Amino acid sequence: MSDSLDYDLIVIGAGSGGVRLARMSAGRGARVAVVESRYLGGTCVNVGCVPKKLFVYGAGVSDELEDAAGYGWDVPMDGVSFDWPTLVANKNAEIERLNGIYGRLLENAGVTVIEGTASIKNPNTIVVGDKEYKTAHITVATGSWPVIPDIPGKECILTSNEMFYLPQLPKQAVVWGGGYIAVEFAGILAGLGVETTLLYRGDLFLRGFDGDVRKFAEQEMRKKGVRLEFGVTIESVEAENGHYQVNLSNGDVMETGLVMAATGRRALVDGLGLAELGIELNASGHVVVDDHFKTSVPSVTALGDVIGTPQLTPVALAQAMVLSRRLFGDGEGEMDYSAIPTAVFCQPNIGTVGLTEEEAKGAGHSVKIYRSEFRPMKYILSGREERCLMKLVVDDATDSVLGAHMVGPDAGEITQGLAVAIKAGATKAQFDSTMGIHPTSAEEFVTMREPAA
Ligand code: NDP
Repeated sequence: MSDSLDYDLIVIGAGSGGVRLARMSAGRGARVAVVESRYLGGTCVNVGCVPKKLFVYGAGVSDELEDAAGYGWDVPMDGVSFDWPTLVANKNAEIERLNGIYGRLLENAGVTVIEGTASIKNPNTIVVGDKEYKTAHITVATGSWPVIPDIPGKECILTSNEMFYLPQLPKQAVVWGGGYIAVEFAGILAGLGVETTLLYRGDLFLRGFDGDVRKFAEQEMRKKGVRLEFGVTIESVEAENGHYQVNLSNGDVMETGLVMAATGRRALVDGLGLAELGIELNASGHVVVDDHFKTSVPSVTALGDVIGTPQLTPVALAQAMVLSRRLFGDGEGEMDYSAIPTAVFCQPNIGTVGLTEEEAKGAGHSVKIYRSEFRPMKYILSGREERCLMKLVVDDATDSVLGAHMVGPDAGEITQGLAVAIKAGATKAQFDSTMGIHPTSAEEFVTMREPAA
């Protein structure tokens, strides 16, 4: 690389993808800087996966306390209380610890961290404040940001960003949307004792997930006391003395203590100067890249949420490893977006990998469906009426397991192992010849003998 350059690579954004790209590339001998305006670790560490999971654990404690009696524990429920500020403070301390770890990881890898907001001046120069930096490559890894639909009163509506720092929990809350974030936050709030209503504009939430999973999750969330209203949306919100009046599309009016929108996320490209450089955005506002993350300007690449691939941390990490290898390694490497496992940490959890029944049929497969519904063993003594669903979608012609889906405790943990099997092309016969681990819920995935359809 030319000595007239300050760096070989400047990464804009120190989220999951940006940090991984910076570290891997520095490890290959590149001179790397990462520019960050907000916090190290991006959405995942600060206002996403990590704090969300901590809140999910917190919300789950209420069930554990209730279930204790069946196992002989005397927990006087009228003496039990929950303190939201304690949970938030402990969560904040953990996030600060992780911010520090991210900083040290970058420092130890020899990556320079530049604090500030970057814009791209030309294909080899970025500007941060009053300083300019010259570089061979620029990678945009700026992530995404929650979107609130443009309705009257939108300024009263919170997003997941603010929910992580809410000073007090309200008595009632309305969650708007039917995707990952809405369903997860509805579960968190309900688990912490907030009367929660989820409003979704379509017929059934979690569009894109397997139909049986969506219906089963609906049934179990209703049992847990989450009020689910489908086929309705919010038209406006009015603030009244710390309360909110929510005006719905069906003419109903709701009173609530909090309104949260989880209505999707947009690519965060503000102020980068992409349009001036001629870098194309698609109709949904994501940066257009080729299969190797190159934008229309060859020295500028982009990865992660900002390019509109599945908005998942492991996807951004995998992209970073491919890009680093292509820029500073042997120049090889391709992304494989097939069979990406994912979990929704609602209560109970959803885990999914591979094709849904609808996708498999749509792609022309003749399928056999294996389905099992049962009450997890743990709930028998406790008397909890929660059930678990497991489902396999199998190609009738080849016997390949095309998809595995679950709603139930630890679905995320269980699905990770299934993802290896599906990625390796396992057949149903191989599932059948695998010994179960007894007694577990997971063993049901290798003991489903008769197709349901
Ligand atoms: P999603 O895109 O998953 O869901 C958005 C929801 O909002 C959908 O139900 C959508 O309805 C609805 N919606 C969109 N626009 C409007 C509107 N104008 N009016 C009313 N409703 C609207 O976004 P999220 O914000 O939930 O999450 C963003 C991404 O973050 C996810 O896709 C996921 O990739 C990632 N994520 C992953 C998690 C995990 O792995 N556990 C956890 C949290 C987030 P419709 O279905 O009709 O379009």
